Amino acid sequence: MDQTKIDVLRALPVPGFDHLIEGQPVPASDGGRMEIISPIDGRVLTTTAKGTVADMNAAIASARGAFEDGRWSGQPPAARKKVLLKWADLIESHALELAVLGVRDNGTEIGMAFKAEPGSAAGTIRYYAEALDKIYGEIAPTPGNILGMIHKEPVGVVGAIIPWNFPLMIGAWKLGPALAMGNSVVLKPSETGSLALMRMAELALEAGLPPGVLNAVTGEGRVVGEAMGLSMDVDVLAFTGSGATGRRLMEYAARSNMKRVYLELGGKSPNIVFADAPDLGEAAKVAASGIFRNAGQVCVAGSRLLVEASIHDDFVAAVAQAAEAMRVGDPLQLETQIGAVNSEAQLNANLGFVETAISEGGGLVTGGGRIFEDTGGYYMEPTIVTGVTRDATLAQKEVFGPVLAVTPFESEEEAISLANATVYGLAGAAWTANLSRAHRMVRAVRTGVMHINTYGGADGTVPLGGVGQSGNGSDKSLHAIDKYVNLKTAWIKL
Ligand code: NAD
Repeated sequence: MDQTKIDVLRALPVPGFDHLIEGQPVPASDGGRMEIISPIDGRVLTTTAKGTVADMNAAIASARGAFEDGRWSGQPPAARKKVLLKWADLIESHALELAVLGVRDNGTEIGMAFKAEPGSAAGTIRYYAEALDKIYGEIAPTPGNILGMIHKEPVGVVGAIIPWNFPLMIGAWKLGPALAMGNSVVLKPSETGSLALMRMAELALEAGLPPGVLNAVTGEGRVVGEAMGLSMDVDVLAFTGSGATGRRLMEYAARSNMKRVYLELGGKSPNIVFADAPDLGEAAKVAASGIFRNAGQVCVAGSRLLVEASIHDDFVAAVAQAAEAMRVGDPLQLETQIGAVNSEAQLNANLGFVETAISEGGGLVTGGGRIFEDTGGYYMEPTIVTGVTRDATLAQKEVFGPVLAVTPFESEEEAISLANATVYGLAGAAWTANLSRAHRMVRAVRTGVMHINTYGGADGTVPLGGVGQSGNGSDKSLHAIDKYVNLKTAWIKL
């Protein structure tokens, strides 16, 4: 990556986006537009269509029509594979354009965005393209006069609702397996992170995806997202976002056609450091980056640091030092390690959590405030609060910002008990050189992902999904394909 190229791209005006329906840009049925504010400077960057219920229903009808006439679902696997591979190539050849557009919209630091957004999305689309002609049905072990076959059929129309953090990466986690298996998809990007995803959807058409197979509707969650949730014609909802919205989606499904609802929700992930960690210096640095990169707006962020009491003070000092050394600022500068908070509302919510933590007895070690307010952007210092008790707000509620809660523990049993003391179960880590303890921690901590002596970075070969109120069903790996197929039995008397 080259700073000059980034600077050229950031200076370009951003065109407005309409919906993408039946392969065409389509404005909102009532002409409504939504202003997109850049978190870099708080200014209006562009506008998108502000969708209506009618717009969402039109997109779903288009997807249904495309599915039923077989223009994609009926193509041979090799043909679908070719289109998806071309799409992955196009995402890669437009990677910097997509990354810069996304950062101007959502504030993620460019170093991370470049890898985690177009880089990861292209890899994911390619992974499922390559997989799609290697997925077989099954023959059941039946008596000789019977043939029992299990077919994997596409479900039909998939509704994908995407958050503002990592929209390309998370979008591809749904689009890759759903499209690979022959489904049609309607995308609903986030209000505060839609632009790069809309551009990525345009590239799918350029790659040869037939019109109507992938439609995208921008607008407010409570309008177009709700219409998708309540639709009688969406078969599966694949969602990443907050628990509050996830709960609504289950309710919409119950009130409409009982569509399957897959939820990837929030977390309060414990990063557990034992005194026998192989490298406490490394553990401190990774603890800082594990919560502060992308200003803490990472679903699996290690937002609770549980530290063995005997090393607590020194370890917290080392994490604070690492945090203070991280460069916060303009997310389009290559040296920036912590970009902008996504929106003013999110920034204010983060600051409110810090205030509450202190009022509940927490000690502020570093950070706690808004910075660079004169830029108009939404920037916050990496913040560490110690003495956070088991039931404190900061131990229980997801902040989704650069705020680390620290709690000491005396024994392995206490560490496990603290780790499991929230409604969430998304990710976690344990740092220890004791092999038996490492395996005990993997089993004992109730999460979808447990890291040992590292934090984050699990690639597309392994699933990511939560337990408890962190959700159900997994993105990534071949297991994700199950979400987008129906099992159909053929029971044949010979
Ligand atoms: P959000 O729930 O506010 O919004 C997510 C999406 O839902 C947006 O597209 C929004 O428009 C839509 N939406 C909002 N209200 C809706 C409604 N009533 N009906 C239908 N759709 C609606 O979440 P967010 O603030 O964009 O994202 C942050 C959250 O996402 C955090 O909790 C974070 O932990 C979680 N997250 C989870 C993962 C994971 O893999 N588990 C990954 C990234 C983010």
